[in-house]
Amino acid sequence: MTKPVNEAARLDALRQLDILDSPPSESFDRITRMASQIFGLPVSAISLTDDDRQWFKSRVGVEHTELSRDRAPCAEVAETTKPLVIPDLLDHPFYASSQLASSGTRFYAGAPLTTRDGYGLGSLCVLGSEPRTATTAEMGALRDLAAMAMAQIELQHAFGRIDPISGLPNRQQFLDDLADLTRDHCGERRLLVMLDLARTDQIDNMTRVLGSEHVVEMVKTAALQLRDALSANRRAYHVAATQFVFFAEPDVDDAAYVTLLTDKVAECSVKSSLRFATTAAVGVAPITLGMVEPTDVLRFAHGAAQDARAQEATVCFFSSANDTAHRRRYELLRDFEAALASEDQLSLVYQPRVDLLSRQCLGAEVLLRWTHPVLGDVSPAEFIPLIEQTWNAKPLTHWVVDRALEQLGRWIAEGFTGNLSINLSANNLEEPDFAARVQLLLLKHRIRAERIELEVTESAIMRNVAQAREQLAALRDAGVRLAIDDFGTGYSSLAYLQRLPVDVVKIDQSFMRDLDATISGGDEQTLVRTMIRLSHELGYRVVAEGVETEGVAACLSTMECDEAQGFLFARPMPAAPFRAWCIAHPGDPATTPRAAA
Ligand code: C2E
Ligand code: CA
Ligand code: CA
Repeated sequence: MTKPVNEAARLDALRQLDILDSPPSESFDRITRMASQIFGLPVSAISLTDDDRQWFKSRVGVEHTELSRDRAPCAEVAETTKPLVIPDLLDHPFYASSQLASSGTRFYAGAPLTTRDGYGLGSLCVLGSEPRTATTAEMGALRDLAAMAMAQIELQHAFGRIDPISGLPNRQQFLDDLADLTRDHCGERRLLVMLDLARTDQIDNMTRVLGSEHVVEMVKTAALQLRDALSANRRAYHVAATQFVFFAEPDVDDAAYVTLLTDKVAECSVKSSLRFATTAAVGVAPITLGMVEPTDVLRFAHGAAQDARAQEATVCFFSSANDTAHRRRYELLRDFEAALASEDQLSLVYQPRVDLLSRQCLGAEVLLRWTHPVLGDVSPAEFIPLIEQTWNAKPLTHWVVDRALEQLGRWIAEGFTGNLSINLSANNLEEPDFAARVQLLLLKHRIRAERIELEVTESAIMRNVAQAREQLAALRDAGVRLAIDDFGTGYSSLAYLQRLPVDVVKIDQSFMRDLDATISGGDEQTLVRTMIRLSHELGYRVVAEGVETEGVAACLSTMECDEAQGFLFARPMPAAPFRAWCIAHPGDPATTPRAAA
């Protein structure tokens, strides 16, 4: 028997239901048991017609889970979507030579499993080992049971595809429908409109103040409103907690239409939230079907909605210029793991820290460098904040500490007396075993804890003060020195820091810019002088970062700043040049360096 013309569409309908090769389920087995009882026959199955096999979703009295499609009566039921009764297979011109007949089956009755769109997916069948006929009542019952099985299949399918709060199809359904749309209208232009009901922090606030039911209420009302606003032939999808999307056609729907729709919904979302401050944003992504990855389509619309927020506009169109930035961020995030594993992408550079009086090199700050295979050199100021949002902050710091200690070990063997300072991420302070891991690495490289200093920014500590204090105390107990990095840019006061086990304060480079200017530098000077004096009173050693000119260095000297770091002395350098630099800068023997604590 040749396959019907619409076979491709039929198979597609079957595959979309995601039922093939799914595990057995009682709700289907109940149906096959009933069919077998009604006919008084031992064998019954819900048999789905795949490309070249009959696969059994449920079966009674059959061992195997599938059978060849070739000469399977169930395939005929699927193809014709008509019930089929074969009183005796051995008597049948076509099925006498079927696999079923040769395995002893004589009687076959099947009722079609038909989708709402009219595609036959397979058959609910009963089999007997003796020839017999089927009564009208039996066949009527079989048809009813087949319809029940089909309702069950479609229900199960919808279950994972409808958002329970809004009742709208979800992200999965959107992706499936987009695939269909692309197949049928490839190359045509569409607008994907995304409505984002509120900013995450607004939702958080609303939940805290009014309770989560209000958020649920807001989402429900917005969904209703959106459904009303869209014409009947258009579907809205609920793709994320507070985000909806729908398609519009650029030639039919002008911008005014989109605005009208979204205005209605935005208005409603405000009303439903008891006028709680929520701001809806709308992103519109013009796409050509088939030219954009399905997940990118959502990303574009989402990006446009975010741009709308950033610009405090209600509607924003997707701009590929903005997306280049998104793409780059995405690539950096995606590729960092490979960088960690590769031998040649990541490297360390060392920037000297010098005693301000003697200019003697006291050690270096270790800074990470990444040469991306395609994007080239990427600044840590760009990639570190990204990586810090992922689990990779942990392996990143581990990598840096491991390599830095390895290098330090080699230098110590050559007689290097300096120390290395290493930057930590906020996430590291949230690792309960961070201090222990650092100690293990110190042991591995046989380095005494006093030879390293770990730099943490104020904001990293502020993210979770209790946890940070615990980790810092553990590191301090192990003998590691600790520095507050970028001091002066956060909100913490020195009095607050006093309660932390810290040894060094590094004043942020932003204070150095005009420090020696006679007019504009006045306030800055007072500020920096006060920071240095207070830090000393609290027992901290003070390091100035980003010193670029002799004027600034001189100024810091009069303020009795202990150490400095900056382009004036040296830029960050790879290991060998740094070591050479150190040897060439033993310091001015006439001045005694303020010894490191
Ligand atoms: P940071 O810890 O404040 O490091 C100092 C930054 O200032 C470095 O930038 C350094 O090259 C730069 N710098 C030094 N002297 C001068 C100067 O005189 N003038 C100016 N304008 N800049 C100067 P870099 O290497 O690009 O690092 C940027 C940031 O990336 C670092 O700021 C740090 O927060 C982070 N970072 C770098 N390496 C690591 C690392 O291994 N781990 C972690 N967690 N963060 C790192
Ligand atoms: Ca630093
Ligand atoms: Ca810094």
